[in-house]
Amino acid sequence: MKILVLNCGSSSIKYQLFVMPGRTLLAKGMIERIGDAKAAIIHQDDAGKVQQGISAGDHDEAVAAILQRLMASSHGAEAGAPIVAVGHRVVHGGEEFTGSVIINNAVIASIDHRARLAPLHNPPNLAGIRSAMLALPKATQVACFDTAFHATIPPVAYTYALPYELYEKLGVRRYGFHGTSHRYVARRAAAFLGLDKYAINCITCHLGNGSSITAVRNGRSVDTSMGLTPLEGLVMGTRCGDIDPAILFYLADNGYAFDQLNDLCNKKSGVLGVSGLSNDMRTLVEAAGKGNERAKLAIELFCYRIKKYIGAYSAALGRVDALVFTGGIGENAIPVREQICAGLENLGVRVDRQKNAAALGKESRIDAGGGVAVLVIPTDEEGAIAADTYQLATEAAAAIKH
Ligand code: ADP
Repeated sequence: MKILVLNCGSSSIKYQLFVMPGRTLLAKGMIERIGDAKAAIIHQDDAGKVQQGISAGDHDEAVAAILQRLMASSHGAEAGAPIVAVGHRVVHGGEEFTGSVIINNAVIASIDHRARLAPLHNPPNLAGIRSAMLALPKATQVACFDTAFHATIPPVAYTYALPYELYEKLGVRRYGFHGTSHRYVARRAAAFLGLDKYAINCITCHLGNGSSITAVRNGRSVDTSMGLTPLEGLVMGTRCGDIDPAILFYLADNGYAFDQLNDLCNKKSGVLGVSGLSNDMRTLVEAAGKGNERAKLAIELFCYRIKKYIGAYSAALGRVDALVFTGGIGENAIPVREQICAGLENLGVRVDRQKNAAALGKESRIDAGGGVAVLVIPTDEEGAIAADTYQLATEAAAAIKH
């Protein structure tokens, strides 16, 4: 069964085409600069990689361009087979969505309603859903929420110590994000260790441009570092993560306007803000190696914040079977993993230098043994979305038959 996975941003769409249930990847790519005269598609399949300018004035045109490209590809035995279902990444599902769902009008209305909590993400996600429904009216459309895995977080971990009516009236609480990735790597970690997926206690570190860390008890998320929005928690590429909220009052007092503060915390902070150099960890590691003190400080801050969260989540969980690294940085940045884990011996975390240095791009165990298993697990958010989509589409088809 051919399944398309779409991840729609405001000016870009990432896509992957799978044959399920085997998760065979037929093609993948991305459209950039939607709405701009310089819109382009980068497409990759077994015939190779092409980059080409296209006309993509809006998401409808962009999705049509993707489908045209996918249909023009040969795809071997799957040539000509229809796309049976489309899985959409949706950032904010609020409290309502605790798992992936088949999209109907009520689901669309709910995603629209949640847009007030994720104004940058839910509207383009929805635009992609509408475009896919238009272009593939017979396909089952499925929404997979970044927040869903965190639906099991208990009130003690999701409630902010603010007046309670802000939660009741405006939904101010911790929701958490990157859920598809945290769930995927927690399941893989359980499989790696030969445990049932609901038997593992682990701490999962998704470290990329956006970073978050999750405490998983018995296979379920019980706490996570991102909050009402993806701004809270770890130091990120351009986001500040945890800060004293009074800093914002202080800056407002010093003439900073609302939009400037928003921009400052989301786009100008994190390792970029501290280093004054880059949001990219590769650039920072290289610069630090050449003696750039601010790059060094930015990396130290990044690692120190993660270390503190690992300590906090170890306390929250009591027993930790595994510490899992994923995301572009977690999967590839050997010195960063080493720096995060240094000094965590009292918590049972001991990394083997050689194993750490050898763990690149594949599932690996990098601890010295006898304590917490430290694992590197490449994430596969698109594959996980395809798996959910396949399951829901198959169940729906079976229900129609009976
Ligand atoms: P996103 O959150 O955008 O999905 P990714 O998970 O792709 O981000 O992670 C991007 C980050 O991973 C960048 O900061 C990049 O520098 C970092 N990264 C990728 N490879 C390496 C590497 N070999 N060493 C250090 N950092 C790396």
